[in-house]
Amino acid sequence: MKANPQKYSFDDSLQYIKGVGPKRALLLEKLGLKCIEDCLFFLPFRYEDRTLVKKIADLVPGERVTFTGEIESAETQRIGRRKKILAIHIKDDTGTIPAKWFRFRELYMTEKYPVGSKVILSGKPEISRYQGGGIEVVHPDIEVISLKENETPEIGKLIPVYHSTEGLHIKTLRSIINRVVETHAFLVPEILPDEILRRHKFPHRQEALHQVHLPANDLPVKDLDHFRTPAQKRLIFEEFFLIQVALAFKRRHIPKTVGAGRAFKTRGPLIGKFMKLLKFELTQAQKRILGEIMDDLEQNKPMNRLIQGDVGSGKTVAALICLLTAVENNTQCALMVPTEILAEQHFLNIQPYCQQLGVSIELVTSALPAKEKKLIHKKIQEGEIQIVIGTHALIQKSIEFKNLGLAVIDEQHRFGVLQREAIGKKGGHPHILVMTATPIPRSLALTLYGEMDVSFLDEFPPGRQPIATQIFFEPKRDQAYAILRSETDKGRQAFVVCPLIEESETLDLKTAIEVQEYLQNQLFPDLKISLIHGKMKKEERQLIMAEFLEKKIDVLVATTVIEVGIDVPNATLMIIEHAERFGLSQLHQLRGRVGRGQHASRCLLIAYSSVSEDGKARLDAIQKSTDGFVIAEQDLKIRGPGDFMGTRQSGMPILRVANLIRDIKILESARKEAFNLLDRDPGLEDPQHKNLKQTMKSYLGDKLNLMNII
Ligand code: ADP
Ligand code: MG
Repeated sequence: MKANPQKYSFDDSLQYIKGVGPKRALLLEKLGLKCIEDCLFFLPFRYEDRTLVKKIADLVPGERVTFTGEIESAETQRIGRRKKILAIHIKDDTGTIPAKWFRFRELYMTEKYPVGSKVILSGKPEISRYQGGGIEVVHPDIEVISLKENETPEIGKLIPVYHSTEGLHIKTLRSIINRVVETHAFLVPEILPDEILRRHKFPHRQEALHQVHLPANDLPVKDLDHFRTPAQKRLIFEEFFLIQVALAFKRRHIPKTVGAGRAFKTRGPLIGKFMKLLKFELTQAQKRILGEIMDDLEQNKPMNRLIQGDVGSGKTVAALICLLTAVENNTQCALMVPTEILAEQHFLNIQPYCQQLGVSIELVTSALPAKEKKLIHKKIQEGEIQIVIGTHALIQKSIEFKNLGLAVIDEQHRFGVLQREAIGKKGGHPHILVMTATPIPRSLALTLYGEMDVSFLDEFPPGRQPIATQIFFEPKRDQAYAILRSETDKGRQAFVVCPLIEESETLDLKTAIEVQEYLQNQLFPDLKISLIHGKMKKEERQLIMAEFLEKKIDVLVATTVIEVGIDVPNATLMIIEHAERFGLSQLHQLRGRVGRGQHASRCLLIAYSSVSEDGKARLDAIQKSTDGFVIAEQDLKIRGPGDFMGTRQSGMPILRVANLIRDIKILESARKEAFNLLDRDPGLEDPQHKNLKQTMKSYLGDKLNLMNII
């Protein structure tokens, strides 16, 4: 077939496809299917083998099959007062079997499937719970073998099965997709270079789409179900390949040089002075990553490096050494963090060093009064302030640096790609260092940070005690409080974290306020128990944090504001209320707030027995491991990649076909091919790569912020 570009386009709405119309278009939209292209790349999640049609006598419980027969009789049966079951008895020349429906519209069913009609069914026979345990099939797919001429029953074929939505029958969806594939797949341009197709023995793109939606009967269903046919592999590969080409492209087009004089001199006298002030030796891992960073900073091109280091591995001091290096090179630098409370804490930590070293430092948050804000902005613009610490406020238009040489972004996982890059635009291509404490499974790291260099801070400062984690289901809450008492008796401090700060009628949550009052008034009147949450004034929060650090407060009841970055070595106990409601990486982060000093620490998870399956899996994972990477892999498995980063703005391109867990090998090979390709054709200028470039641009341009470089 030849494409007819005047007539059809990829972005055409599905509404105008035969058999769709406005109503179904809305249902399709629920599935994320708006245009032709969406539909083509909406792949079946499993296949049904209807090539082999079995006889009724040969049906085995638990095995999905297709069989045909004639409707012998049908009846409804009552169970209990309200419920009804529909049983349609099917017979062939070897026997009979009831097909049963628990949800059905009686009139519709009896009209559609009258006694005597020939039908084809597929489903999974099982042993009946009633009638002495004969075999039956519940909610099978059933279709009258139509006598109309041009209708073929879905028999003798491999049938693709798609995720559908309420109100859209799977058969309708299947026939819509079928139609779209038949009429539009020929529009799809090939985007993979010939040599890659050859090397991997991939089918062409159009061919692949046909094969996944209308599979040939001789394909092994097992391969199809595991996404292992050449057509499926090709579509998975291409999805990863596009992303990796984009990342490789980006990496190459990162400006080649930094502003004049920004090839830093490292390890100067200021750093020497700072090292003398520091009360501890750097760990080997800290030295190693600093070595990698210093090598970058000495280059006359901007650093673009990610540090992955688990909670408590000591990223802050590494960051500070980088900041001071920038200062020593007469440039300004910025440390950007996701929350005000963390900005404040970094500021409190860093400021004393700066004072002793004679370095000027300021805190910029959105909470600053207008007048003060203006003044600070002015000082930043005039280059008077050397180190600026702040939140998103730092990337606002109103802030201009005179001479930004380095930007450090902490807890990067809370920011999106675009924010990460916005700070880089604040000066003539400053060096960029991003740090994250959410260990990212390798596959995700390759997709999210594929254009960066990565350093691993894989060692903890000495003397860390492992954190023992225990789960207490609600009736045993008192045991957790008994542990709290024994810790405070030893002079230690504790956090109690709650999910919400105000009482909510719909969610029966223990709120932070309630918990604080309960602990203070009912249980521990002799202890000082304070509350901290995100809606407090900055001064109030700072005061409380300072008091906690000075051990004037024994127990800090908090909302998740303390999730990132808080550092109080004497705190040895973390109690998490409603732990089942927290995400896995959030639990890991929270747990990381303790175990930071010399004392053995514990994390107690208080959960409610009505926990969901996912909730159980999370609690189980957090109890079993303290290794951030293991936890991250588990998290990815439980949640799936789309949701993994927690925030939609994470910039993760949505994967339509590929799966980050299942397809890691394909991802790696796609990455290799992508980077090789860019070595050969850095600008993707070869006419052979035109479609690739175009598709990358339309698919990923906004997401990966490519627009200004393509
Ligand atoms: P994170 O990587 O989670 O940001 P921090 O930078 O907050 O971790 O460090 C956690 C704690 O470990 C801090 O109290 C810090 O002072 C301490 N620390 C960092 N490096 C070392 C080291 N080399 N030796 C001893 N303590 C260290
Ligand atoms: Mg930190």
